[in-house]
Amino acid sequence: MRLAIVVPCFNEEAVLPRTAAALTALLDRLAQAGAVARDSRVYFVDDGSTDATWSVIERLHAADSRLCGIKLSRNRGHQNALLAGLLAAEGDAIVSIDADLQDDVAAIAAMVEQARAGADIVFGVRAQRPHDSAFKRVTAKLFYRLLALLGAQVVLDHADFRLMTRRAVEALRAYPEVNLYLRGIVPLLGFRTAQVAYARGARAAGESKYPLRRMLSLGWQGVTSHSAVPLRLITALGFLVSLGSLALALWAIWIRLFTDRAVPGWASTVVPIYFLGGVQLLCIGIIGEYLAKTYQEVKRRPRFIIEQALGPVLQTGADAPGESRG
Ligand code: UDP
Ligand code: MG
Repeated sequence: MRLAIVVPCFNEEAVLPRTAAALTALLDRLAQAGAVARDSRVYFVDDGSTDATWSVIERLHAADSRLCGIKLSRNRGHQNALLAGLLAAEGDAIVSIDADLQDDVAAIAAMVEQARAGADIVFGVRAQRPHDSAFKRVTAKLFYRLLALLGAQVVLDHADFRLMTRRAVEALRAYPEVNLYLRGIVPLLGFRTAQVAYARGARAAGESKYPLRRMLSLGWQGVTSHSAVPLRLITALGFLVSLGSLALALWAIWIRLFTDRAVPGWASTVVPIYFLGGVQLLCIGIIGEYLAKTYQEVKRRPRFIIEQALGPVLQTGADAPGESRG
C-alpha cells in the first residue's frame, strides 16, 4: 500500500523541518515493517504562506524526493489547502495531518493497520487534549455536539486527522461544493470506517493559525453547510408568535366583555402588530424552506456512491469523479 501524507502549511517555517523529520522517520519505520510501500510520500501544501515556508519545502524536497510540495497561488484557508492535497496526492491511502505535530504521528501506524484490515476511512479521535486551552476544549466539545444536534453527520472530537483510501478520496472528489467543511462531508461518504484514539499534544513550534475569528468562521461554515435547522427555527418562531397573538386577541376580547378595564384602541393596535409579525416570520420560514432546497440542489452532491457491484452494471454517472451530474 502506497501511503501519502498531506500536510497543509500556512506560515509554518518554524515547525516544518521537525514535521518532515518526524514523518520521514515514520515512513521509514512503516516501510521497514512492510506496512506501506517504500515510495510512500509526504505532500506539503503551502497555503499561500508569507514566510519562508515554500523555500523550506523546496529544500526538503531537494534533500529527500519523498517530501513533495504543492504551492497554492494564495491563502485559501485550511480546508481548501487540505482538499487540494487530498485530490492532488498520489497513493493508495492518504492521511491528512496538521503541520504542527499536535496530532500524534504514531497514530498513523494504527490508521494504516485499520486500513489494511479493510477500513476505507479511519478517523483520528482526540482522547485527551491537555495542551489546548480550557476555552478551546470546552467550545470545541460543545460545538461538535451542537452540530450533531442540528443534524450534521459528525464524528465527535475528530478534527482533520484521518486516513482515506483511494476510493474514499475519489468519492470525495464528487462533492463539488465551495463552502467546504470536510469534517461534515467525509462522514457522509459512507464506506467502512474505523477510529483511532490519540492524545493531542502541544504545538511543536510557531503559533496557532486559528485565532478565534477563524474558529468562529469555520464553525459557522460547519453549521450553514450542513444544516437547514436554523431556517426551520424561523418557521417555528413564526408559529409561536402567531399563536401568541391569537391568545392576546382572546385575552383582549375577554377584558372587553367581562371587565371595565378595556383601553379603547389598544387591542386594535397591539394585536395586529404581533399577528403580522408572526405571519411575516412564518412566510420568511417558508421562503427559507425553498432556499434550503435550492441550497442543497446547487451543491450538486452525489446522491449515492456505489461501493461495490457484483455482476455487470452500467456507469451511473452519479459517482463518476469530475463528471457533471443532472
Ligand atoms: N492552515 C492552513 N491555512 C490557513 C490556516 C491554517 O493551511 O489559512 C494549516 C496550518 O498550517 C496547520 C493547520 O492548518 O497545519 C492547523 O492550524 P493550527 O495548528 O494553527 O490550528 P490549531 O491547532 O491551533 O487549531
Ligand atoms: Mg495546531
